[in-house]
Amino acid sequence: MQKTELHELRKDPLLGRWVAVMNHSRTPSDYFLPPAAQAEKACIFCAGREGELPPEIMSIPNPHSDMTAGKWWTRVVPNLSPIFRVEGELGRKGEGMYDKMNAIGANEIIIESPFHDVPPEDIGLDQMARVVRTYKERMADLERDARLRYTLVYKNSGVSAGAIYSHSVSHLVSTPIIPKRVKEELDGAKQYFAYKERCVFCDLIREELRFGSRVILETKSFVAFCPYASKFPFESWLLPKRHACAFQDVGVEETEDMALVLSAVLKKLRKLFIGVPFNYFIHSAPNRIPRKNHWHTLGEDYHWHLEIMPRLLRTSGFEWGSGLYVLPTSPEQAAQYLREV
Ligand SMILES: [Zn+2]
Ligand SMILES: [Zn+2]
Ligand SMILES: [Zn+2]
Repeated sequence: MQKTELHELRKDPLLGRWVAVMNHSRTPSDYFLPPAAQAEKACIFCAGREGELPPEIMSIPNPHSDMTAGKWWTRVVPNLSPIFRVEGELGRKGEGMYDKMNAIGANEIIIESPFHDVPPEDIGLDQMARVVRTYKERMADLERDARLRYTLVYKNSGVSAGAIYSHSVSHLVSTPIIPKRVKEELDGAKQYFAYKERCVFCDLIREELRFGSRVILETKSFVAFCPYASKFPFESWLLPKRHACAFQDVGVEETEDMALVLSAVLKKLRKLFIGVPFNYFIHSAPNRIPRKNHWHTLGEDYHWHLEIMPRLLRTSGFEWGSGLYVLPTSPEQAAQYLREV
């Protein structure tokens, strides 16, 4: 891979939010390249084209595959145009009133299947369990790097949800900071715990199961529901019933159960709205390597989960300007549609 200068992270002095600034600025006309110029010529994630990608980071092998190449179930490779890079120094710096640092981190692509045309809702239970296991192994591995504070595993499905490739892939980004949206959630959970001495997510699970009206489905280890104050219509959360702050601590049985619930909810969504673009992401604890001002109650007050955001609406000036979201379908109604479909 060509070695380029590191991208830069800058902190907003007003909101404390970090942004990544690319070192090669796009020109105005670059934003309007015709779609054909950006389209995939042929898919490099399909089995048999392994040699055209950077060296793999990990894979779940499939020794019984009858293909000559591509004896794998899932593969993880470095991102082809990474924002964050593993090599280099953090180089925290002040610039007058501003703070910045180098974009050190990890950027990986998780190839969910050796085959091209497999929509995520039809990937199958065994394969979904392998995808979940791949997420888990990468997160556990990256937690060992003390420079990295947070790892986010996420998926973009559909062009308007940010997907660049038509092959089913997920992404992973490890950052040297805790992103603001995550930090707000961690702080909220910490405050709730400080006040009630209980995990807010464990309370949510109890409350949602007691009411039932927002529950989509429940299994032995998971519950899927539409949150009481969702941001988007048909937003769905998957919560593990067993309290654990970090996703990478899930057991084998939970992995299989999670694959079942994730597949079921994606199937339901795509049945209600054919081909709907969506994002999902896993919210897990930040890196638990102890550091200065280390957070001692993290294991008790945070509870990992997965959030699914169908992209049914475009964000308007009102949401951007106020941070207040409008729900044209109530979470209770949305859950009922999802239960019954
Ligand atoms: Zn492909
Ligand atoms: Zn909990
Ligand atoms: Zn969350």
